[in-house]
Amino acid sequence: MPSFVITEKCDGCKAQDKTACQYICPNDLMALDRSIMKAYNQEAEQCWECYNCVKICPQQAIEVRAYQDFAPLGGNVIPMRGTDSIMWTVKFRNGSLKRFKFPIRTTPEGSIDPYAGKPEADFSKIKSSGFFNAPAKAE
Ligand code: SF4
Ligand code: SF4
Repeated sequence: MPSFVITEKCDGCKAQDKTACQYICPNDLMALDRSIMKAYNQEAEQCWECYNCVKICPQQAIEVRAYQDFAPLGGNVIPMRGTDSIMWTVKFRNGSLKRFKFPIRTTPEGSIDPYAGKPEADFSKIKSSGFFNAPAKAE
């Protein structure tokens, strides 16, 4: 069930160096055709339908489409990500809609500092094994 770019909606992330979908795809599948400024999934069979690109696209231009031999024609699922919640819109084959809204975080967006309280990285130890923030071993 690969991701699919709705070209009418995609604006190529306004020609930035890297598009949002390219940035987020853990499998490096999204590519941008700069001649028309539209993104596409360059290796659809490798897509593991994680929905990251669908959720991050600022234009809501990406869908994950099921293969129609086992999913009803015309059904789809569209997420809309906010700063503290996500709304999933599920469209059924008969056109009826259901929406589900879930919180996605407990802290304000941008407030997490992953290195708070950690020591500065010491580059003289760059070739040592282990992590820069691992507790010092007792001698
Ligand atoms: S994130 Fe959306 S708008 Fe940006 S290039 Fe990808 S599909 Fe297009
Ligand atoms: S659904 Fe996930 S794996 Fe597939 S193209 Fe989007 S980000 Fe990549």
